Amino acid sequence: MTARIIDGTLLSKRLRSDKVAQRAAALTERGYPPRLAVILVGNNAASQIYVRNKIKACEANGLHAVCDYYPAELIEANLLVRIDQLNRDPRIHGILVQLPLPPHIDAYKVIAAIAPEKDVDGLHVVNMGALMAGKPLFRPCTPYGVMKIFELENIPLTGANAVVIGRSNIVGKPMAMLLVEAGATVTICSSKTRDLAVHTRSAEIVVAATGTWNLVTADMVKPGATVIDVGINRDDKGQLCGDVDFAGVHKVAGHITPVPGGVGPMTITMLLVNTIAAAEYAAG
Ligand code: NDP
Repeated sequence: MTARIIDGTLLSKRLRSDKVAQRAAALTERGYPPRLAVILVGNNAASQIYVRNKIKACEANGLHAVCDYYPAELIEANLLVRIDQLNRDPRIHGILVQLPLPPHIDAYKVIAAIAPEKDVDGLHVVNMGALMAGKPLFRPCTPYGVMKIFELENIPLTGANAVVIGRSNIVGKPMAMLLVEAGATVTICSSKTRDLAVHTRSAEIVVAATGTWNLVTADMVKPGATVIDVGINRDDKGQLCGDVDFAGVHKVAGHITPVPGGVGPMTITMLLVNTIAAAEYAAG
């Protein structure tokens, strides 16, 4: 068997024209041009690329984006003051603080300072709690994008055994929660898991979100399983790659996402969707 390759770029294009650009135009017509504020602290090269891509995607789909660039030495208190200003600014509908922040800034405190109704990354503790309660306002963009992939590719989740590898607040935990909501039986693995393959081999769904190159190999995958690769890594030749050995797993799985061109574009698309939803909420 060779897996169907899920084209995240193509799915994103469809979603952006159906669910984003039209709604952005309608909001603008009503006098509520949707606007995202992005904050980038420091000069992490990957973060700079992610922020650039997010701003480009906004502009290409009728959303406005403003970005504050701060040096790595920024004082935490000054960042909190800026977030307070953005919270109060009625022209701003979504606020995104690009992570990671420099170590002297408490990311939890910073995210908690964002008004929950503008937290389009879905990482505020109120939004995390709402997700846990089954009433999410904003779903974190990457797991939300993965759920959209399942939906658009008609991959059944009810009753499926799903393994999420990674337990971060940004990807692993919310991913597991969304799968639970969808009726899957979910196992969350981490670096502390004793025998990862025992879990992945019995799963119809595997979501890898670890940042470890070639972690998931063909012998770890049940034939026909759906394998979603969230990881973003560089291989020994410096090429972009995920957590999954694509060449090997492609021969065993039923569906697989590539890196690049899989989950990455969906993450940005769901950021746009959340920002539109925030603007619609503000517009009543
Ligand atoms: P974190 O570093 O916060 O979390 C990584 C998780 O993976 C941890 O829970 C860790 O376990 C687990 N882990 C690490 N190594 C192993 C291993 N060998 N076996 C099992 N579990 C392991 O990363 P993020 O969740 O923020 O991101 C994960 C990956 O996804 C990264 O590559 C990141 O770049 C990428 N990413 C991609 C996005 C996209 O749009 N495509 C968006 C966001 C992230 P433990 O908790 O025990 O340390």
